Amino acid sequence: MAKNIQAIRGMHDVLPEQTSRWQFVEQTLRDVLGAYGYAEIRLPIVEKTELFKRSIGEVTDIVEKEMYTFDDRNADSLTLRPEGTAGCVRACLEHGLLHNQVHRLWYYGQMFRYERPQKGRYRQFIQLGVETYGMEGPEIDAELIMLSHRLWRRLGLDNLELQLNSLGTVAERAVYRDKLVEYFNANLDLLDSDSKRRLQSNPLRILDTKNPEMQELVSHAPALMDFLGAESKAHFKGLTDTLEALQIDYTINQRLVRGLDYYSKTVFEWVTTELGAQGTVCAGGRYDGLIEQLGGKPNYAVGFAMGMERLLALLEYRDDLPVVKPVDAYLILVGEAAEKAGVILAEQLRDALPNLHLQMHCGAASFKSQFKKADKSGADYALILGEDEVADNKISLKFLRRNTEQRTVSFAELTELLRI
Ligand code: ATP
Ligand code: MG
Repeated sequence: MAKNIQAIRGMHDVLPEQTSRWQFVEQTLRDVLGAYGYAEIRLPIVEKTELFKRSIGEVTDIVEKEMYTFDDRNADSLTLRPEGTAGCVRACLEHGLLHNQVHRLWYYGQMFRYERPQKGRYRQFIQLGVETYGMEGPEIDAELIMLSHRLWRRLGLDNLELQLNSLGTVAERAVYRDKLVEYFNANLDLLDSDSKRRLQSNPLRILDTKNPEMQELVSHAPALMDFLGAESKAHFKGLTDTLEALQIDYTINQRLVRGLDYYSKTVFEWVTTELGAQGTVCAGGRYDGLIEQLGGKPNYAVGFAMGMERLLALLEYRDDLPVVKPVDAYLILVGEAAEKAGVILAEQLRDALPNLHLQMHCGAASFKSQFKKADKSGADYALILGEDEVADNKISLKFLRRNTEQRTVSFAELTELLRI
């Protein structure tokens, strides 16, 4: 026998028994986004490699070692998107959506990063991305946090902590960067090799190290907050004042950084301790510099991305999520006449009851074996069409999950009974 082909490492199937949980969460996302007036944008999964190099930057983990990049048959370098922000800005610029306009957008879909697979970290994963353009004040930063906070409430999650920081402006960060480099240079022997490399390329990223041996050093590093100017401070205060008014708790995490020049002011993460090392479920911030970096006029932008696998993992043990049953009624057909009549009956039932999930048995089989299948399908009802029923123009209805007597009824009676 030929050897089975398996899925690619770090890329997972979602099996039918799981999809209804996903659908429930996805519908909740759509409802919450709708409540804030956000519109969906759908973007390609593949983009020119250049887009990610220009936006994410050459010296990040993603561009250095995580991208799925290949040449197509035309020898153009393409990349499976590792994130959605760049593609979203690209699309908005390409279609002229950013001229004196305000936008609140979301997208949902697969992202690809060549990482070491582990729980909560995959090579193909799904993100909900939310991006807003054209708004300068901290109200929109607060709105994104309110929106995500509402989503946790809708999903019944109360174990996520909001962490905040402000990165200030490019100029403020440049002064800070020098101080930080000075500090790490004075402690060079305590840096791991990764951090030594980052000291040259992207020193802010050192603060983000996951190496336990460096935590002590990093915790005593100068804090970016102390380098912010009046305007950046006021913006941050505008955000925290709103959160306090709404009684949304937060902690300030001075080590929350994005090592890219296009970020400014607000950064935030929703973090849980329940998922081990992969505890960030949602990460976002303001990236006012990116649109210009991608060739547009300077413009304001704030957004976040949410890791769906991590969110679903938080909901894994919850048995109270509403489940969509694939099958409500199973149609059993015994004999040739019933098989012929059954097809027509099934279609008429679907016309009459568009929300009924009706599965029709296919292929001749004994009543007993069809009945077993009906039971296994999870259906509440078995509809039985045999010779007698066809002759009398009736259908027998058996209740599979209730202690109610079987009945033989007309089509009209059946639709009334199944409507409830
Ligand atoms: P990390 O530090 O965990 O690598 P990141 O900074 O690379 O995270 P972002 O690019 O900010 O992550 O992505 C936003 C969110 O997407 C993350 O907070 C996480 O929930 C999710 N995410 C990122 N990478 C992966 C992955 N490889 N597998 C599953 N989810 C991921
Ligand atoms: Mg990463």
